[in-house]
Amino acid sequence: MKTFKTFLIATAAVIALSSASVWAETDAELIARARAIHDRVIAVDTHVDIPANYGTDAYDPMKPGPRGQQVHLPTQVEGGLDATFLIVFVGQGELGVQGYSKALSDAMIKFSAIHKVTEKMYPDKWELATTANDVRRVTAAGKKVALIGIENGYPMGEEIDLLDVFYDYGARYFGHTHIGHNQLGDSSMSLTRELTEPKPLHGGLSALGKQAVKRCNELGIMNDVSHAGKQTSLDIIANSKAPVIASHSGVNGVFKHPRNLSDEELLAIKKNNGVVQMVAFDTYLRAVPKGKTDAMASLWVEFGIKDFGDMGKLTPEQITSYRAKSDAIELQFPKAGIKDLADHIDYTVKLIGIGHVGIASDFNGGGGILGWSGAGETFNVTLELAKRGYTEQQIEKIWGGNLLRVLADVEKYAAKTKYNQKRGKA
Ligand SMILES: [Zn+2]
Repeated sequence: MKTFKTFLIATAAVIALSSASVWAETDAELIARARAIHDRVIAVDTHVDIPANYGTDAYDPMKPGPRGQQVHLPTQVEGGLDATFLIVFVGQGELGVQGYSKALSDAMIKFSAIHKVTEKMYPDKWELATTANDVRRVTAAGKKVALIGIENGYPMGEEIDLLDVFYDYGARYFGHTHIGHNQLGDSSMSLTRELTEPKPLHGGLSALGKQAVKRCNELGIMNDVSHAGKQTSLDIIANSKAPVIASHSGVNGVFKHPRNLSDEELLAIKKNNGVVQMVAFDTYLRAVPKGKTDAMASLWVEFGIKDFGDMGKLTPEQITSYRAKSDAIELQFPKAGIKDLADHIDYTVKLIGIGHVGIASDFNGGGGILGWSGAGETFNVTLELAKRGYTEQQIEKIWGGNLLRVLADVEKYAAKTKYNQKRGKA
């Protein structure tokens, strides 16, 4: 009996010891493990907006500026955010030559600002990358990486050859639509605040949109399905000969929202060998408290805003007042947090596998959540992933390995096309 008792005590001690080493990681140990992982992996954020005054005194990326600017080089260093896709975004306007030409000039100002910042203002700290290899090389050299993504194909108008110009200026992904249908395809949302499926214009990707998918493939630009309507998104995936991305989206499996991807789209992206970048955008991650929706609706009524297009009609004084009031509403109702973002990541990893999921902030464009409200807090995302049991190898894929694999695949496909070869010789 004594022997049996001793055996029991010894066994209990062994179990206690092994549980302590395997399961009971202290907070300090978890933080140290996550920190080491975060320092080793390349963290790529596929969606950071820039305003029209980027690269001027009003928004010098070296200095923290006024409201809404969530990414600066010093905070990128602090948060360990290695690479950002800076976004050439132009809001949706009227379909026609006048609208297209204004949009094109706005887009070119943003392209030029990114070149100015990386090549003239801070070439010793920052470099514009145009290939997956560039991203690894620049990071290894201790500099931050900028890449360029296009959000909304509207500025292309009906001139397919403008895609070549965008490519030459460094664009490496192309989001066909934004909010509101355009000449390339139907959007997931209309310009009004309604969250119902908008009435179709083309019923998916237009004939011009199909040509754009093809040209992006030939040039080596990743086709992006974020913001596209479901049928447009499925058409982009079906037409693309190289892997596609969703540059900043959530998933309907966790929270149903027109901007989020259905399981059908996710499975199609898996089959296409693409990648879905989960976005840290409050209203896509979880249900917004009704009080907040009502307060925002009243604010729109107060400022006479009927759709997103009306925002551009506000005077500078009205914009200041609108922002102060919307900030007050934000403070009253806390945003989604890192756990919500990680829930979208978990769901997508389970459905389509670790090789097809990534991360985007949508900073400066409405993104940012509790715990990841700016570049300086980027480590918190890695901490949550490590806490949830993701290994270093898995976190490396999520933070950029998958996206860089897709970019390299897209480059490889393009290099084999006749169009690309002919262009190279021209
Ligand atoms: Zn967006």
